[in-house]
Amino acid sequence: MKRIESMLDNLFRPLEFIGHRFILAPFRALLKKIDPLAEAIEGTWLKKSLQVTIFPLFMILTVWVGFKLVEGGYTIRTFGGTIVMFLIMGFIFAPLERLLPFSKKWQNDEDMPVDVLLFFGNKVWGDYINKPLQLATISLVVQKISPEIGRDLWPGFLHPALQVFVLLSVNDFFRYWYHRWMHENEFMWRWHAVHHSSERLYWFNGTRSHPLEGLVSNFLWAIPLAFVKAPVEIVFVTGLLGRTIGRFQHTNMDVILGPFDYIFSSPKNHRYHHSKKIEEGNSNYGGDVIFWDLLFGTFHMPRGQQPGDDIGIDQMPNYPKTFIGLMLAPFTYGRIKKEAKKIMEKGGS
Ligand SMILES: [Zn+2]
Ligand SMILES: [Zn+2]
Repeated sequence: MKRIESMLDNLFRPLEFIGHRFILAPFRALLKKIDPLAEAIEGTWLKKSLQVTIFPLFMILTVWVGFKLVEGGYTIRTFGGTIVMFLIMGFIFAPLERLLPFSKKWQNDEDMPVDVLLFFGNKVWGDYINKPLQLATISLVVQKISPEIGRDLWPGFLHPALQVFVLLSVNDFFRYWYHRWMHENEFMWRWHAVHHSSERLYWFNGTRSHPLEGLVSNFLWAIPLAFVKAPVEIVFVTGLLGRTIGRFQHTNMDVILGPFDYIFSSPKNHRYHHSKKIEEGNSNYGGDVIFWDLLFGTFHMPRGQQPGDDIGIDQMPNYPKTFIGLMLAPFTYGRIKKEAKKIMEKGGS
């Protein structure tokens, strides 16, 4: 296994190098130009008002753009559309993270080429394997049980924006339990650890996850969700809003959300979720909303405190960092754990 791993690793290393040298480096130089501006606005009302308004503004804008796209005939998220959306988000989020940084340490972008590879890996796997499998399972189960169930349940009388919020919350109810299970069960953790292996949080690393993590969820929450028969345009806008929340959830922007920290999965409460301390990390499982955590007793956000920036997987300094290493990590988890124990006994590294 080790030999195959290093062979595959050598195959992908050039791609990671190209990403560093030709894609990241020029952007890094540009982004650094924002640093003096970040210092200039320190302690000003301008900074404060940006910190407070960015999140609600983005949320409203996403819903508005979403329904405009629906009016224009778009109701399906395509491969190309997702890439365009991420590019637009990157051009907005990356400079804003530089202007309003929560952690300077998290500005180190060495891991980005691996995240880009993981993004494409997940996208290809998701679109060509996960999604067809999900659709086939859903239609099979729905037909078998009853296509009628849930037909009249959807609250179509509500304002469309409210319907989006309802779908976001129902979807996250299932996601909450799946996510919690992945943290509380060691076999499930093997897959989810890839997401937590990141040592910094920034707008793009919400996409860092193992493709197989999503495969199991097809059979867990896609099926109950299939009976929640929301109109296709609501599903589309909810998907877009989920993307925006995902970017904020992992952003390095020092935004102030106030009451929204108790409604949505936010940068502040999600930073606790990525903490190395297990008592902090095993909390705030919400992916889009956070009130399921409040309801089921897993919410963690002590008043008057701020989360730290020391995040990642504790006691595992040897956890893989390359694309191939991360792809194989769930399968080599036993070995990684054993080696980590030896390293920690020797005094860590
Ligand atoms: Zn998690
Ligand atoms: Zn996360």
